[in-house]
Amino acid sequence: MKISAEDLSAYFDAKGVKDGCPLCGTDSWSVTPAAGPDGAIEAGEVALEVTLQLVKTNSWVPMLPLVCQNCGFLRMHHTHWIQKWLEERDNAAG
Ligand SMILES: [Zn+2]
Repeated sequence: MKISAEDLSAYFDAKGVKDGCPLCGTDSWSVTPAAGPDGAIEAGEVALEVTLQLVKTNSWVPMLPLVCQNCGFLRMHHTHWIQKWLEERDNAAG
């Protein structure tokens, strides 16, 4: 599954995630593109294609990093939470 910038924004809104950086209060974040297992990133997509099999076999944690554009603070989100929410949203939409 690929997560678009729009998906990420909708997810954060639904979860009540605050926009401000916990260190400096700035609300400007950039998503650091991260390569999926195949190493490819398509234009307009932030990250990342993950297989459950890879996680189970290697205890690998798929993370989505965001960087504060003012102070450089780095935050991480476990992508399974995002993917689960997106799947439930898409299933509810039919
Ligand atoms: Zn900051």
